[in-house]
Amino acid sequence: MSHVLAAVAWPYANGPRHIGHVSGFGVPSDVFSRYMRMAGHDVLMVSGTDEHGTPVQVQADADGVTARELADRYNRVIVEDLHGLGLSYDLFTRTTTRNHYAVVQELFTALERNGYIVKRVTLGARSPSTGRTLPDRYIEGTCPICGYESARGDQCDNCGNQLDPEQLINPRSKINGETPEFVETEHFFLDLPAFAEAIGNWLDQRENWRPNVLKFSRNLLDDLQPRAITRDLEWGVPIPIDGWRERNDKRIYVWFDAVIGYLSASIEWARRSGDPEAWRRWWSADAQGKDALGYYFMGKDNIVFHSVIWPAVLLGYSGEGDKGGEPGELGRLNLPTEVVSSEYLTMEGKKFSSSRRVVIYVRDFLERYDADALRYFIAAAGPESNDTDFTWAEFVRRNNDELVAGWGNLVNRSISMAAKNFGAIPSPGELTAEDEALLAVARAGFTTVGELIGKHRQKAAIGEAMRVVAEANKYLSDQAPWKLKSDEDKPRQGTVLAVALQVVSDANTLLTPFLPHSAQKVFELLGGTGVHAPMPRIEQVDDLDGGPSYPVLTGDYTTGARWKSVPLVAGTPLAAPKPVFRKLDSSVIEEELARLAG
Ligand SMILES: [Zn+2]
Repeated sequence: MSHVLAAVAWPYANGPRHIGHVSGFGVPSDVFSRYMRMAGHDVLMVSGTDEHGTPVQVQADADGVTARELADRYNRVIVEDLHGLGLSYDLFTRTTTRNHYAVVQELFTALERNGYIVKRVTLGARSPSTGRTLPDRYIEGTCPICGYESARGDQCDNCGNQLDPEQLINPRSKINGETPEFVETEHFFLDLPAFAEAIGNWLDQRENWRPNVLKFSRNLLDDLQPRAITRDLEWGVPIPIDGWRERNDKRIYVWFDAVIGYLSASIEWARRSGDPEAWRRWWSADAQGKDALGYYFMGKDNIVFHSVIWPAVLLGYSGEGDKGGEPGELGRLNLPTEVVSSEYLTMEGKKFSSSRRVVIYVRDFLERYDADALRYFIAAAGPESNDTDFTWAEFVRRNNDELVAGWGNLVNRSISMAAKNFGAIPSPGELTAEDEALLAVARAGFTTVGELIGKHRQKAAIGEAMRVVAEANKYLSDQAPWKLKSDEDKPRQGTVLAVALQVVSDANTLLTPFLPHSAQKVFELLGGTGVHAPMPRIEQVDDLDGGPSYPVLTGDYTTGARWKSVPLVAGTPLAAPKPVFRKLDSSVIEEELARLAG
């Protein structure tokens, strides 16, 4: 048994999230966490909405609300979407809690004390007509990297690169169009070069990482520069340095506060659990948590933050960069065990884009289709190790041919035949070689599927689980229990159905991390009672330190199925099953494409 931290990328709260977002890290991290819990590990799965920074402020300005109001709106939308997908967070919180502010400031303070935060003079924008500082979001210009004409002073939304306002070509104020003047201003920088050696040593010891992630991360070390961790902006965590704390125009940079969320959310979870020190079992590099494992799930555009910058923050906090130092009051902290990044999902051959309406939001998807249909598609055909295209035709095909005609059909026909002929799970007689062979295939699945999920090869894992399903369907066709109706054949019919139902039960357990909603239903169709696949719940909680209340996702995942074959009990009553999956009419393909065309 290990302590396993599942640290899931934080969705940004400037709008609703689309299925591309949840396919990269949301569903894969839940599959992994559910499997690890079933295998007996003590999992802590945390995340939350990332709510600071310029894009939230820009969207709030456009909507005529405050940044906080905008963040409140989309925090709730995202919490409800992730709940609808059945993502089993121990805590899904947000970056606007007072607990988060305190943890961010603690890390900043300790890094500064250890000498890893340096002050630098940079150029900031000022309005020549008013003499006031112009926050980054009010400056627009042409991106020096990709040539996009509406890049902002902190980031280009076209190519995704972070920018400084003075790098923009033809900079202009979004307030009145005038050309800003650039004046010297001070900011704090994280001294990343002081960690190059320590991070290099750490990367050298990594095993099992996807080779592209490791190579990309090593290459970054050759050219590390100090990186700004404060910004000209009013919306964010205040800078915990005398003379800066009170300033309204400077805040901690959103990326720096967001990566610390993994730690602050773990601390918040512990404080809510009644044991405020419990987070140490996953984080402390000294005692309680030194053998813990930490898996970070994200899209590939975020690798640098998790394989270099977050490790640098953790090393600096622990006093383990070139400049040494003392650990902060939280003690020495664990670095990631593994950075699990996904590739991109596109939609009908195009990049997802809310502004160009190449998009389907999670909420709209879940209104029209079942969560497990999407979870199945993501696991079987998602962007695990290649950029992958979502097409409605492929979604419908996989749903109908694989989920409904493969797995759903196996569940339905084996249970209905047993219910009709026996009214219960029949007692098996003597087993034939074919019976034994099928049972062995299902039992072997626990090793193969489990190992593949543990190595973040979920596509292969669900393929193996579905292979068990295909073998069971073939077995039923070969044995044809519907023909074994005479009094003489009846015992053999019972044996065949008992074997088939046992394999349905095993395959259902193998599929539970992927398809938790339908797994609960299949479990109940087989006469099971109680929780098979635990689900998250939304809870409105008070801020622990006196801030406004907010909704979180949380749950009790200590109950539910274990990762093993559980023998069915002969005589358990069975009723005629209702279909677990819905077949989709092919007309939905055209309807959805018409929606996309707008
Ligand atoms: Zn650009």
